Amino acid sequence: MFSRILVANRGEIALRVIRACREMGIQTVAVYSTADAKGSWLRYADESICIGPAPSSKSYLSIPAILAAAEIADVDAIHPGYGFLSENAHFAEICRASKIAFIGPTSEAIRTMGDKSAARRAAEKAGVAVVPGSKGKITGEDEAIKTAREIGYPVLVKASAGGGGRGMRVAHNDMSLRSAIQSAQAEAQVAFGDSSVYLERYLDRPRHVEVQILADTHGNVVHLFERDCSVQRRHQKMVEESPSPALPKPVRKRMLQSAVRLMKTAGYTNAGTVEFLVDRDNSFYFIEVNARIQVEHPVTELVTGIDLVKEQIRLAAGEKLGYDQDDVVFRGAAIEVRVNAEDPEQGFRACPGRITEWSPAGGPGVRVDSHAHQGYVVPPNYDSLIAKLIVHKPDRRQALLALDRCLDEFTISGIKTTLPFFRRVIRHAGFASGHYDTGFVEDLLAGTES
Ligand code: ADP
Repeated sequence: MFSRILVANRGEIALRVIRACREMGIQTVAVYSTADAKGSWLRYADESICIGPAPSSKSYLSIPAILAAAEIADVDAIHPGYGFLSENAHFAEICRASKIAFIGPTSEAIRTMGDKSAARRAAEKAGVAVVPGSKGKITGEDEAIKTAREIGYPVLVKASAGGGGRGMRVAHNDMSLRSAIQSAQAEAQVAFGDSSVYLERYLDRPRHVEVQILADTHGNVVHLFERDCSVQRRHQKMVEESPSPALPKPVRKRMLQSAVRLMKTAGYTNAGTVEFLVDRDNSFYFIEVNARIQVEHPVTELVTGIDLVKEQIRLAAGEKLGYDQDDVVFRGAAIEVRVNAEDPEQGFRACPGRITEWSPAGGPGVRVDSHAHQGYVVPPNYDSLIAKLIVHKPDRRQALLALDRCLDEFTISGIKTTLPFFRRVIRHAGFASGHYDTGFVEDLLAGTES
């Protein structure tokens, strides 16, 4: 087992990883940018090293800065968290070359699965249905138009390297396809340094359901059931829950089996998520693999009782899973909301600044993952996530009641947050019924919800 791990991230996920390490008797080394010099998570690490100025390109995304810190601190592994370098195959490769374990899948698996159009091919090979689309990356606009006509409009232009809802454009006809390709390529080049795009049929208000996977380096793969992440704004998740409230049992079973089959076929290791879109007729289609821990992992931890971060560390150290699929037991229902420093009344504009009052919710079955506190200044440089509020109860109805109570209790002053918006979401009959889709938030904001 590792004795010293560098946490190459910040905020709530850095704290989450540090906590797991402390419980495992592993020392931690935190790295931080000058904007995070007062970060609460640094105080729980055994050592903290400043790796650069506020812009992430010069700190959390700087491979030389992070590797230098790893060498100085003499760590034997790096946990990348989510975002930043977590799905950077080159970084994983350099770690290996430097004899430092990368806590995640192999660089080869990141390369295959992190590139969405390559992952589509892997899924097809494993006999898992993908959204109808182009065979691979698009090489020219004329060829794209031909493909789009074959699959049928509307189509979605998607960046192969995409993430966080960026590099995606809908096109309804030949003309809009040309401009969609150009703008998706430009956005992808800036965001990911890779302008390649591919096409998918644009499904009409699908649901987003994903399967959590754990795989060891000895060929064992299990799923930890699903999370429904259909409550999204601009293709970004806002609420996640497990079980999915609207997935018929046989469909769920097939989806879980498909996810395991895909990851087995791909020789995937460590933690990963297989994402699917579910159409109105309950057909499901693979869209992508997230080759890392995800923001919404606590939902799965609560319904399975398995600590995903500890599992990641154990598996990266070469340990066996040590349990079978039948040992993974599902209990109750869990729901998470992402509390962001954003103003829902101003189009979810980022709202950094000082938190003058911080009073989180609590009580039985309530978990708050956060690095924030009274007096904390949310920096303007990074993701606006400041807390994850997760509830776990014996069933969904009780989970909703608890979440409602928690949203009343949770008080954050000084900055605007998404808390008031979630009160609207969870009190909405469409959400309560469980029959919502990826168009739900748009309807809610437009006031056209039925
Ligand atoms: P990212 O990696 O940027 O998060 P995903 O491929 O995971 O992108 O897609 C994010 C969301 O975008 C999905 O959950 C879904 O709401 C929407 N989406 C993606 N592909 C399609 C599609 N083919 N049809 C309709 N919606 C889609």
